[in-house]
Parts: sequence; structure tokens; C-alpha cells
Amino acid sequence: MSQQGAHGPRGVDTPSAYVRDAGRDSQDLFHIVCEDLFKIYKIADLEVVALRGLDLRVRRGELMGIVGSSGSGKSTLLNVLAGLDLPSAGAAYVNGRNLIAMSEEELVDYRRREVGFVWQQTGRNLIPYLSTRQNVEIPLVLNGTSRRQAKQRAEGLLESVGLTGKLKALPDTLSGGEQQRVSIAVALANAPNVLLADEPTGELDTHTSEEIFELFANLNKDLGVTIIVVTHDPAIAARVDRVVAIRDGRIATETFRHYEYNSAGERTIVHREYAVVDRAGRLQIPKSFMDALDLRERARVLLASDHVTIYPEDAGPEKPPEE
Ligand code: ADP
Ligand code: MG
Repeated sequence: MSQQGAHGPRGVDTPSAYVRDAGRDSQDLFHIVCEDLFKIYKIADLEVVALRGLDLRVRRGELMGIVGSSGSGKSTLLNVLAGLDLPSAGAAYVNGRNLIAMSEEELVDYRRREVGFVWQQTGRNLIPYLSTRQNVEIPLVLNGTSRRQAKQRAEGLLESVGLTGKLKALPDTLSGGEQQRVSIAVALANAPNVLLADEPTGELDTHTSEEIFELFANLNKDLGVTIIVVTHDPAIAARVDRVVAIRDGRIATETFRHYEYNSAGERTIVHREYAVVDRAGRLQIPKSFMDALDLRERARVLLASDHVTIYPEDAGPEKPPEE
């Protein structure tokens, strides 16, 4: 629904359409841009709206977390960004290219070169009868890298994920955390500039999850790769620049990490949560607030000089304050 650069319902247009308010360098600044994304699954007569007008911008080199309850649309969003699934409407740009406008051939190439994916189930990431090194070599060889170079690169990648001593191990002889490290090395094999991970620590204990989050942070810093991690683990917030919460197929809130310094110069991390306001002025009121005030269907929204108040339909002052 951008005002500039009209595009059809499937959002086929040029990246300039999303240069709305971010200035001329927004194509460089934003690595990933989702605009008014919809995904509707149809099973027989039933329609499930998994994404419902989702807007999201991710900076180049950002390390971001996505949280949200089960069924809120997290995996659907990641699958769209991975080029594994097409949205029903809206636009999704990665690196300035519209995923929806890509041919099947371009999508195959995109999945192979530009994006790496880590699943929750290690079994989905790794081939069980191949060694860790061979697992990392596969995507390289498929991409035309020579065997010798693939071997070198695989060893380098396994070193960078902390698995130097495990080159010949078979996946099922490794711990869950080690298996996810191999999966991350596989996902990074062809040096993608986007790494997507869907609940990569879902089957790991707290301590091991921490180590995997730390690995993501290090890879983000060292390689400059843009990383999106979907997780249920609240510990993610301490590790990433920003956490967005999805509710009902839309981004509901964003939480940023800030640093505060006391008079002794000691640093503490504080997290500040914001409700996301879309271009039409819509925002989501937290479910707990709605329940607490029995807010439903209608609210009174009153403007003050520096804030807005929201009352249940029958509450609030008799007359709205003068504007
Ligand atoms: P999350 O990853 O946040 O748990 P999903 O993206 O997997 O959520 O699912 C969002 C909604 O879409 C859910 O209601 C889910 O049942 C539905 N859904 C997901 N994938 C499919 C599919 N392939 N076919 C039908 N419905 C689906
Ligand atoms: Mg999921």
C-alpha cells in the first residue's frame, strides 16, 4: 500500500517503492523489506491467514530475534524470506530484489547462494551418513566449487563454529549443540549474506542455547551477515540488537537494547518495548491490557498535547479535552 510507485496486489515493482521515508540510501540500509505481506493457506474450504499485512525492515548486518506464540506466523515469515514459500500478497525484498517477482530458476539460485537456513530439527539440516565435513562440502560442491576448495572451506567453517576436532564425526555421535553448530556451518557454506534460523535452540538446554546465541552474535560481528533468529527463548533479548514480537501474522511490538550508565560509569542493559504503528495508524494493544479493561470492538482514543489515551467505550471523561 505504498503511496509511491504503485504496485499491484502481488507487489511486482521496483525497490524504489519502499524508499518511502528512509532517504536515498535505504536500499543499502535495509537488507530485508516486507511490505503489507499476506500469506493465506487454503485447506479445502478453510482459509488460514498466517501473515496479515506484515511490515518489517531489517538493516544490513543486523542481528534480530523474532518471538511470538505458536501459530503466530513466525515460520511462515521465515519460509517466505528463505524463498521456500510465496506470499499471497504484498512485497518482500531481499537485497533489493523482490522475491515475488523471481522466476523458479532465480529462486533456486537465491536459496543456494543468498540465504542460509537452520531448522529446529537437526535431522532436517544434516545428512546422517555423512561426516560433518562432508555435510558442509555438499552445498559447496553443488554450487560448482572444486572438491579441494570445498574441503578447505568446510574445514575453515567448522573451525569458525568451534568444531575443529570433529571433522570426521557422524552427526549422531555429536551432542545437540554440536549438531546445530554443524547446521550453521552448512547454512553458511556458500557465504550467504542472510542467515535465517527457525527455533534453532528449541531442542537444546539453556546453557547450550546460550552458546548457540553467542555463536550467532560472533558470526554476525565477524562476517557481517544479517541474521534473523526465531525463538521462544527470552534469553535472546540480551544477545540481539532488536527483538520483534509477532502476533496474529503482524509485528506487534519491537524491543530494543539500550545501555544505561550510572554515575560510577557502570553499564547496565535495559530493554525498551515499543508498540509498532503501521502506516494506517494501526497498533496492537497488548492482550493483557485488553483483558484488564475489558476492551473490545470499540475504544475512545483521545488526543492530548503529548500523548494519546485510550478508554473502553463507556469510560473516560464526559467530554474529550479541547483540541
Ligand atoms: P509459528 O511458526 O509462529 O508457530 P506458523 O507460521 O507455522 O506459526 O503458522 C501460522 C499459521 O498458519 C498457523 O495457524 C498454522 O496452522 C498455519 N499454517 C502454517 N503452515 C501451514 C500449511 N502448510 N498449511 C496450512 N496452514 C498452515
Ligand atoms: Mg514455527
